[in-house]
Amino acid sequence: MLDNIEKYAKKYNIPIMQKDGIDFLTNFIKENNIKNILEIGTAIGYSAIKMALVDKDINIVSIERDINRYNEAIKNVSEFNLNNRIKLINDDAFNVELDDKFDLIFIDAAKAQSIKFFLKFEKNLNKNKYIITDNLKFHGLVESNEKLSRNLRQLIRKIKNYIDFLKNNNNYDTIFYDVGDGISVSKKR
Ligand code: SAH
Ligand code: MG
Repeated sequence: MLDNIEKYAKKYNIPIMQKDGIDFLTNFIKENNIKNILEIGTAIGYSAIKMALVDKDINIVSIERDINRYNEAIKNVSEFNLNNRIKLINDDAFNVELDDKFDLIFIDAAKAQSIKFFLKFEKNLNKNKYIITDNLKFHGLVESNEKLSRNLRQLIRKIKNYIDFLKNNNNYDTIFYDVGDGISVSKKR
């Protein structure tokens, strides 16, 4: 059934996590015994389902602004009977106010906005816990010298700013992993 989600993503060009990236993420969740997760950017529920399947005590809140993707995610989550453990919210994450505290916040939404997501939701992170961000390499473009469109150059600059923001943020210890499309793990001090 996960196969079908992967095929759907490919067919409709939905940027779900790459194989080695999702393996890294699920191993991290297992090794660090993480049980409460906030995900920014559900898409069609692939990473949320993968994370939930790590352990039956894992609960996830995941936010998606696109109504079609949200509906597809609802369908997929139901097929895995995970409705009781994955709570999906259809809204722009910047409109969502949560009181819950999480052991992991996974940022995988609009790549130009990562700093803003980080600053908005860090209040929902437990001490000594983690913020993980995906796509820091942005398909290799962050480190390439290719000629890019103006929009793409702006996006790459924002991703670089986010990387600097993480490096200079003394409230967190951040490690960058060259896995999948580039993943950071920031541990709150
Ligand atoms: N985590 C998913 C992939 C997410 S793709 C997986 O690996 O399976 C990124 C998603 O973030 C897109 O579907 C996009 O619609 C959503 N997104 C982007 N900006 C957002 C925002 N401000 N609020 C909510 N969702 C957002
Ligand atoms: Mg991603």
